[in-house]
Amino acid sequence: MTDATTLDAPSVTTGGNKVLILGGGLAGLAAAKRLVDNGFQVQLVEKRDIFGGKVSAWKDAEGDWVETGLHCFFGAYSELYDLMREIGTYDCILWKKHELNYTLSKGERFAFRTWDLPSPFHLTPALFANGYFSLPEMLAFAKVLIPILFGGERYYEAQDGMTYKEWHERQGLSERMMKKMFLPMSLALKFLPPAEISANIVLAVTGEFLRRPDASMMGFLKGSPEDYLIGPLVNYLRKKGATIQSGRKALSLIYDGNRIAGAKMDDGETLVADYYLTALPVHNLKKVLPENLKRAHQFFRDIDEFVGVPVVTVQVWYDRQITTIDNILFSPDGVIPFYADLALTTPEYAVLRGASHQGKTRFQVGVAPAKEVIKLSDEEIVARVDASVKDLFPETAKDAKILKHAIVRIPQSVYAPYPGLESKRPTQKTPVDNLFIAGGYTKNRFYDSMEGAVSTGNSAARELMIRHGVKI
Ligand SMILES: Cc1cc2nc3c(=O)[nH]c(=O)nc-3n(C[C@H](O)[C@H](O)[C@H](O)COP(=O)(O)OP(=O)(O)OC[C@H]3O[C@@H](n4cnc5c(N)ncnc54)[C@H](O)[C@@H]3O)c2cc1C
Repeated sequence: MTDATTLDAPSVTTGGNKVLILGGGLAGLAAAKRLVDNGFQVQLVEKRDIFGGKVSAWKDAEGDWVETGLHCFFGAYSELYDLMREIGTYDCILWKKHELNYTLSKGERFAFRTWDLPSPFHLTPALFANGYFSLPEMLAFAKVLIPILFGGERYYEAQDGMTYKEWHERQGLSERMMKKMFLPMSLALKFLPPAEISANIVLAVTGEFLRRPDASMMGFLKGSPEDYLIGPLVNYLRKKGATIQSGRKALSLIYDGNRIAGAKMDDGETLVADYYLTALPVHNLKKVLPENLKRAHQFFRDIDEFVGVPVVTVQVWYDRQITTIDNILFSPDGVIPFYADLALTTPEYAVLRGASHQGKTRFQVGVAPAKEVIKLSDEEIVARVDASVKDLFPETAKDAKILKHAIVRIPQSVYAPYPGLESKRPTQKTPVDNLFIAGGYTKNRFYDSMEGAVSTGNSAARELMIRHGVKI
């Protein structure tokens, strides 16, 4: 799959407009698009044989799509949708009913349904009418909505020194609400439990949902992200003359004490450009940043504190229909905090080995926290997922048989937003003149999400263009 084209012969000119992008996930591809559209000469290298990083999807030997992770599109996003409109795929998002469905042990349920009222009242009826939490629990919750709603980013960031669990307890919110409502939310957000995740991120996301009625609306692609997001982007870039290469891994950036002078590749070649833009997961970025660069700038030493969170994605095809809910589902009980039946949400996925799988189930589940689960064998992981499904759907799943499964283990996925890290998140502009960085761990309002990736790709490209003297 490797594209044979390479950058022109190495040159160390300044004032040229060659950009080398490391990483072919959404952040790298979004940055490449902005730069190519503005006349820059772009080379992008991706270490895997496929593009898309954490949003990548591929077909297995039987022709079934396998996804890296369950991806929901939120109403709050905007830069991702601008990008999708530009490549003609925005209409491939299918928006689902505006509700949050919680599935609990032994078939117990509760849901939050928003009403057609101005913000923040769109959520008020949902709070009181879900029928699961008691009135005192909901009144205590309604009270804490005030700082969340009106405190803004300054308030959220001031809570970054504590975990969400600590914040929750200080507010006098019930333990049951944390276990049943916030545990799956926190695991769905960043695959970390409330006792580990920073309060900042949970409050910021809740605030976003409260301020804009449509922010918490969720959509799914009608088919694979390769068909409707990543593939079209790569095609667009190639058509515009960018050099987009898979199967090429960057080993290290070269820092001459002043600027980045090249990138050593695993095939022995050193790629040289005028500008360098990294769009790597943070654990991979740490490997390519040279020691002399870290010694020279605290900015890069701070990055050393960031790590990725483990998560496991399991896809299971069952021989019958287990749920009729065409939406994401949350569960505080068992090992599958967030999941969806893709045979319902994603019409083109209602197939198994080339035959129709309509009227049956194709669950895609996020298994988290995954620190221990990730070490288990495939059989043990599938057995735990199946036990959770049978507990959550005691009637419809009782005799359900698994027809096939696929497991994707990601030891370091999105960056872990532990308490105290917010002030260390780097900007896309770095202290080195010709180096820019993108990715969810870099500063942006949407953290490590598809929107975060695209917005940091855009922002890194914008900073680079400003440095180059482009009027924006
Ligand atoms: C299970 C799961 C579920 C998710 N669900 C959602 C969701 O519902 N909604 C949402 O908005 N977001 C979701 N996300 C988050 C979203 O997928 C990511 O935030 C986003 O895709 C990150 O894009 P990125 O380009 O910054 O990083 P990545 O996608 O990680 O891309 C980085 C790329 O760099 C490449 N690379 C690494 N090292 C090198 C090297 N040395 N040389 C060259 N290339 C290299 C990698 O192979 C990769 O392709 C989810 C993530 C996961 C893991």
